[in-house]
Amino acid sequence: MKYLSEFRDGALAKKVADAIHAESKTPLRIMEFCGGHTITLVKYGIPQMLPDRIEMISGPGCPVCVTTKKEIDAAIEIARRPDAILASFGDMIRVPGTHESLLQAKSKGANVVVVYSPDDAVKLALEQPAKKVVFFAVGFETTAPVTAAAIMYARTAKAKNFFIYSAHKTTPAILAALLDGEVRLDAFVCPGHVTTITGADIYKPLTDAGKPCVVSGFEPVDILRSVLMIVRQVNRGAAETEIEYSRVATWAGNARAQKLLKEVFEPCDAVWRGIGPVPMSGFTCKGIYARHNAANEFNVDFGGDEKETPGCICGLILRGMKKPADCKLFRKACNPENPIGACMVSDEGTCSVYFRFGGSHVEAVHA
Ligand code: SF4
Repeated sequence: MKYLSEFRDGALAKKVADAIHAESKTPLRIMEFCGGHTITLVKYGIPQMLPDRIEMISGPGCPVCVTTKKEIDAAIEIARRPDAILASFGDMIRVPGTHESLLQAKSKGANVVVVYSPDDAVKLALEQPAKKVVFFAVGFETTAPVTAAAIMYARTAKAKNFFIYSAHKTTPAILAALLDGEVRLDAFVCPGHVTTITGADIYKPLTDAGKPCVVSGFEPVDILRSVLMIVRQVNRGAAETEIEYSRVATWAGNARAQKLLKEVFEPCDAVWRGIGPVPMSGFTCKGIYARHNAANEFNVDFGGDEKETPGCICGLILRGMKKPADCKLFRKACNPENPIGACMVSDEGTCSVYFRFGGSHVEAVHA
């Protein structure tokens, strides 16, 4: 298969890994921001193919994992209103809030409907004009344009009863915040899908701070090539953005999607689960689109600090300070059937990835 099988070629992967072993000279802590990258890394045993001096650290690039308990509590509160329907993607409804998940609330009568796209929620609003339909919008720059397009669709279709509850998050602000964190990060494997929308300029604050950045695809050879590109940058004393995922990502990004984002949203402060408040790291509706903002329609508490479930170290994992095996609940009380923290829910959550693919390679951080 073109663009896929060649990036899963074992012989090529070994050749790139050999080059990394031959050329890497200094210890490196490289963060892979995106949960999709974490899956590939763990599934294909890439950390075991790298020299010991290169450590891969998972980042907070799983949208489900960084949605706060309070955001979930607010969504549940909306779903309990007799005049409202809360429409959500399927993986979101299993994430624990402070007391329960949307799925548990649904089992007790809350009006929660699973949709496959924001457009489905607009259609639901058109079918049920007596109800206020609220789409629980999560995700990064990759999914936010689809939410923006749904809001424009709702306006065109005169679905005045369509709202979004935006838990969208943005990538550049959190990456900059991670630089100020307690963990030493030397370089970044940057998210290919986000870059496809935004373009590659968004990583300039990282390269300005001396951190090499490589936008990577999602196959094993992609990730190994990205690590090799980082090693070569470090060896020549560079800190640049490079695009390994050149079959999809570009420097300019997707102009149409960017225009949609600019038209409908503006940046706002956002709280990240396990990380806390990050200035200007969210999206909220602006101008004429603000009337579709559920925060303006429903009087529920949409923000604020929160405490993680006792024993759960999701916050430390999302900040790159710990790994799933450091958690005493991992594989015991917490598993995909019974997720205690958000990182065990989504397919891209670090704990879920290590549970499904980690095998004997699961290692704790011994700081
Ligand atoms: S294993 Fe479960 S409880 Fe532990 S950090 Fe991960 S999600 Fe939280």
